[in-house]
Amino acid sequence: MKQSRRKFIISTGLLGGTILTGGSNTNVFSKNISIIKKNSNMKLTFKPYTLELKHVFTLATSSRTTTPVVLTQIEYDGIIGYGEASMPPYLGESHETATKFLSKVDLSQFKDPFEMESILEYVDNVDKLNPAAKASVDIALHDLVGKLIGKPWFKIWGFDKDKTPYTSFTIGIDTNEVVKQKVKEAEEYKILKVKLGRETDKEMIETIRSVTGKQITVDVNQGWKDKFFALDMINWLKEKNVIYVEQPMPKEMVDEMAWLTERSPLPIFGDESVQRIPDVIKAHGVYSGINIKLMKCTGLREAYKMLTLAKSLGMKIMLGCMTETSCAISAASQLAPEVQWADLDGNLLIKNDPFVGTKVIDGKITLNENPGIGLSEVLPH
Ligand code: MG
Repeated sequence: MKQSRRKFIISTGLLGGTILTGGSNTNVFSKNISIIKKNSNMKLTFKPYTLELKHVFTLATSSRTTTPVVLTQIEYDGIIGYGEASMPPYLGESHETATKFLSKVDLSQFKDPFEMESILEYVDNVDKLNPAAKASVDIALHDLVGKLIGKPWFKIWGFDKDKTPYTSFTIGIDTNEVVKQKVKEAEEYKILKVKLGRETDKEMIETIRSVTGKQITVDVNQGWKDKFFALDMINWLKEKNVIYVEQPMPKEMVDEMAWLTERSPLPIFGDESVQRIPDVIKAHGVYSGINIKLMKCTGLREAYKMLTLAKSLGMKIMLGCMTETSCAISAASQLAPEVQWADLDGNLLIKNDPFVGTKVIDGKITLNENPGIGLSEVLPH
């Protein structure tokens, strides 16, 4: 019995050589140490990569056709975990900042990837901010540990894969004719997401309504500055079969937001106002729910804690993303069975995705059984 368990431990790399050398069993085990890889420390590597978007991405103040990301790997005992940092330029991180941050991270000091809490606490303290760069280590570590255990994270957490929601699909701001075309191309998706906060808000909604009756979600990105105007808009949007509103007003307008949420006929989610765990408590009573994004909150570990906290406070939860590859999307989707709404379309908006992972099938996030974060293929890149 003991022997078979030891064999299992060695074959799966679950135990580092140093542990075997400790205690009174040193002599008994020393003969076998050579079986275990001489250096089983974790090794972090990373590579800048640029995502090419299928369509020009237009926000209120800027347009762009690319998104910088950094792809990370953590190798341990011949197994590789994959991670990613996605860094839309307006959020302050870049190839340069992420590379600089990751250069300072030394995982070789940890013998065992299962010490996730200690490892990720260390990573969080390497420097301030840098949430996406931190997430790239967190995701790779989760992928690695899940692979060592041999299960996907939704199973390790005990979630029901059938409970995943539909994902919304973003229809970018454009001319009326192009918007109509984009809606037709999005036939597979059951929920459309629209960016508002411009002069043309009602026109944009009416244009979509002229071609489809599908549910719509709107993201105002802090664009409305007056609470009475915001309430009028939300009442109008409800009549148009809009189902929720993201960040209608600036994050600093806390009292106005609480006023609006109290009166709104639609759920209101805080996004820009909710980055990490302490923001969940601040959002309670101000928003109906929170939008959790791995790139804001430093990865899966904190996302899981935010989810648990928000749930215990009776708040609604949605999962969001940046434009990112199937690596970060597959990671986030491991949490999907526990959220009411998902906006995980970032990988669907890019042309050069180096990963195959969680798929959207008939509009629904569909988890697979691959261990770790659920990647099934890594393409040359
Ligand atoms: Mg948002």
